[in-house]
This record gives sequence, C-alpha cells and structure tokens, in this order.
Amino acid sequence: MKTDIQIAQEAKMVHINEVAAKLQVDADDLELYGKHKAKLSNELWEKVKDRKDGKLILVTAINPTPAGEGKTTITVGLGQAFGKLDKKAVIALREPSLGPCFGIKGGAAGGGYSQVVPMEDLNLHFTGDFHAITSANNLLAALLDNHIHQGNALRIDTRQVVWKRCVDINDRVLRNVVVGLGNKMDGVVREDHFVITVASEIMAVLCLADDMDDLKKRLGEIIVAYNFDGEPVTAADLNATGAMAALLKDAMKPNLVQTLEHTPAIIHGGPFANIAHGCNSVRATKLGLKLADIVVTEAGFGADLGAEKFLNIKCRKAGLKPDAVVLVATVRALKYNGGVPKAELGEENLEALSKGIVNLEKHIENLQKFGVPIVVTLNSFITDTAAENEFIRKFCEDRGCDFALAEVWEKGGNGGIALAEKVLETLANKESHFKPLYEDSLPLKKKIEMIAKEIYGADGVDFDPAAAKSLKKMEEMGFGKFPVCMAKNQYSLSDNASLLGRPQGFRVHVREAYVSAGAGFVVALTGAVMTMPGLPKNPAANCIDINDEGMITGLF
Ligand code: ADP
Ligand code: MG
Repeated sequence: MKTDIQIAQEAKMVHINEVAAKLQVDADDLELYGKHKAKLSNELWEKVKDRKDGKLILVTAINPTPAGEGKTTITVGLGQAFGKLDKKAVIALREPSLGPCFGIKGGAAGGGYSQVVPMEDLNLHFTGDFHAITSANNLLAALLDNHIHQGNALRIDTRQVVWKRCVDINDRVLRNVVVGLGNKMDGVVREDHFVITVASEIMAVLCLADDMDDLKKRLGEIIVAYNFDGEPVTAADLNATGAMAALLKDAMKPNLVQTLEHTPAIIHGGPFANIAHGCNSVRATKLGLKLADIVVTEAGFGADLGAEKFLNIKCRKAGLKPDAVVLVATVRALKYNGGVPKAELGEENLEALSKGIVNLEKHIENLQKFGVPIVVTLNSFITDTAAENEFIRKFCEDRGCDFALAEVWEKGGNGGIALAEKVLETLANKESHFKPLYEDSLPLKKKIEMIAKEIYGADGVDFDPAAAKSLKKMEEMGFGKFPVCMAKNQYSLSDNASLLGRPQGFRVHVREAYVSAGAGFVVALTGAVMTMPGLPKNPAANCIDINDEGMITGLF
C-alpha cells in the first residue's frame, strides 16, 4: 500500500489559475506563490461580498484515539465527492503547525486518496503565515520588555506580565525561562514563558478578524500585563498595533490550493482545538461561502472541543450559521473506546463496539442541542466488517441521524458519493435551527458549568481559588459577556484523558482562567493542558529528509 506522501507526490497538479477558475476567480485576484499556491486578494472579497452565501457544512468527530479518526480525510473526500456530482464546492481547512508535524502526527493534509496538495509545502510552513504570526507575537514581547527597560512609564508589574513569546516548534525547555540575564544593558530580569504559535492569541485574533480594521482593533485590545494597581496594560498602550498589523498584512489573506482531484481548497489559520478555538479563519470561511454553493470545513479534535468552539465561539462571533454537521466515527476508534487494545483493533468485535459506541451517542446528543441536522459517517478502514458497519448504521438511524459509509481514503471522491448524496438530501429536507448553547449574558462561571454538564456530561465544576478569583476579576473588567474557550485534553469527554467511552459521575476541575481580550473570549484551563507541547522519544522529525532533487520523504 502506498503512503500518503507517495500518493501526494504522484499527483498531477493543475496550475492554481485553473483551480481558481472553478470558482470563477480571475488570475488577477490571485497572488501567486509558485504554480500551485496562491493568496486570494483583498479586492476579491470586495467584488463578491454582497453575493448570497452557500451552505456551510462542519466536519467533526468522536473523541480522538490512537486508532485515528480522519476528519481532514473526510472533509477533503467529501469536497471531492461534491465535485464528482458537479456541485460547486470548496474545502476550508486550517494550516498545519510544525509542532505536531515534527512530533507525532506527521502531517495534516488528509490521507490516502483524499489529500490536499502540495502536501509537503502545506505541512512545512506553507506561505509563511505562521512565521508572520510568530513575528508579530514576538515583536509585541520585545516592545513590552523594552518598555520596562526604558523606564517603565506604564508602571508594568513584571510579576504580572501575561504576554508570552512563541515559536511554532514543540520545545519543552522553553515552557519556563528567565529573560534579561546579563548586565544592566541586557534588560530587566523576569520569568518568561513560550507557547506554541498556534496557541498564541495573535493566531486567534487573525482567525476571528473580519478585516484589517477589525484586526487592528483586536490587536490593540490584547492585554499584555497588569500594572502595580492591577489595571490591564494593552498592546495599544505599548503603541504596538500598527507594526504588528503591518507584519500580518499577507498572513490575513486566505491561501488557495487543490485536492488530489483539483477541488479548490482554502487553507487559512490554524489555532489548536485543545487550548485555542480550533477552526480556520472567519475570512476564509466567509469567502468560501461567497465563492461556492457548499463549503466543507473541519473543527479540530472531537466534537466536545472543536465543534463546541466552532459553534459557540466562531459561529456566534462571525454570525455564521452551519447548515449541517458531519460527525465522523470509525469502527476502530469505537472498539478502542470499548476497551480493545490498539494491536487487536483489526479483528471483528461487536461486543466491544456496542460498549464503545456510547462515545458516539454522547456526541450525537450534544450536537442535537445546537439544532443543526447531523449526518454520521463511518470513515471506512479495510479491516472493518459488514456486521460492524451495519451495527453502527442502525444505532445512528435509531437516533434520528442520517448515516453514510465513506470510503474516501481508499477511493477518493468516488468513495464519498454516498456521503455527499446523504448530505445533499439533509440540506434539502432538514432545516438548520442553529443556536449557540448559551447566551452572552450568562455569567462566566455558569457558562463553564453549562459546557461541562451539557457537553462533557459532568456532574459539576470545581474552580481552584485562583481561577475563581480571575473569573470574578474578568467580570468586573467587563468581559463577562465573552464566550468561554475551554482548554481540555482531547482524548476524553472528561478532563481526565484516561476516561474513555462516555464517562459519568465526574467533576471538571478548572485550575486557571484568563482573558484573551483581543480574540474576544475567556480561556478556562482544565486538568493539565499544555500550551507548549514537547517532542516524543522518537520524533517524526528524525525520519524526514530531502534528496538532491528536492524530493521530501518521511512526512505522513
Ligand atoms: P484528523 O483530521 O481527524 O486528525 P486525518 O484525516 O488527518 O485525521 O487522518 C489521520 C491519519 O489517518 C492520516 O495519516 C490518514 O492517512 C489516516 N487515515 C485516515 N482515514 C483512513 C482510513 N480510512 N484508512 C486508513 N488510514 C486512514
Ligand atoms: Mg485534521
């Protein structure tokens, strides 16, 4: 069997002008990065912004397991299948972070015959958007430390600096550092921290900003520290907004590439879903809705994190209304949830399946709370059996969900026709009554409790005294109306990664909370969630190479 990278490298890509033409976008509105990548110009948005929107489809999944779920693969395959049915569809995805790429995940451009290409470029810093974000983030940090060094007119309390430096590499030694060591001219000594770029507030700001004005407004509102009176100091106070916005000028523009079957794919922004809001940029999604009749987009990790934030944060903030949700499950992941070890997932096991399917059941119930029609799809693996597939089909249909098997990994768009037809049928017959889970006016603690109880299935929430104090302070500062961005492990519905299936009788523990005032949400950290991941013992980076012809190997 061929690897993902082999399939991707054998693909015959067409010129990006041809891909754009499928969306009636002129070459004039493309800013080319070689022959196969382009940025979509700001002028394009001006031309299309008054058009009617297409339909918005969100792809999400059950909780991730080491068995693999394949949301990106399904998103790409479904887009390709719409192409086979002569529908004008576009795929809207996030840009991969280098962190997981060199760590454990390998790549994030889909899989098998449902991939976005050029996959090496996409996975390896693409059009440089993340570097721009890293630069803007670290410029703000440098201006902050320089302000302190130059006399600290804003009376910044160096023990209350909340802005962190960032880098888009998993580098655990940077989690806690000391800056300013040396002599008097080397700055003021203080403890500092790094986060991975995809967890930076600038990433969230870029993904949620409507346009350059909105970007600047949000950048200015970022809180970098508190002064000796406990009052917030912002990026605007440091006069940093203009320079940061200038650095982000091109990063603000969505990128266009193609799938293996030349379906247009808009790839833009990439916040993580466990510690940030986990979906591609608002601008890319909105542009997609103007350019195509159907936009297929993905939210990261399981529906408890990715979809919850897509619906409660992105859709609420951007005024988007999803028309249908595709919920991805795999036989293997459900068996894993039913207690089968990874090595034995290839064998039929209906008993384990019936035990593990409670995870899918909870996600179906959760998504129904948002009033959006659901199509469950099984991402088919060659080891799955007909009896296992039938068991899941019946389970879904008994719960009022449409169901379709997807063989897009093995067969590309042709393997997704059943799913595409089911989605079209759902769009035609079932109306979306989308509403976020909670009102803006609900107090922050209550929002967190609502998510924990309604989505995770918890009995309640315990707040550390420090978290309770921060939440109270944020209410006083006027941020009580913000939605909450939950930071939680992705493996379990609970905040304990080892509780699989559908955990019950547990409480969620919030240990820290802070406001991302520019992004416009409050982050609540549960359990031990890392904002700077580390590399594993055998990092994927050790297997990546490039030969004399420029051919890259080892991405997967
Ligand atoms: P997600 O978006 O949920 O993280 P991806 O779509 O990126 O998942 O897929 C993760 C990995 O699993 C990829 O390497 C992909 O090739 C593989 N994969 C996905 N679907 C299948 C399948 N049906 N059979 C075999 N491998 C698959
Ligand atoms: Mg993915």
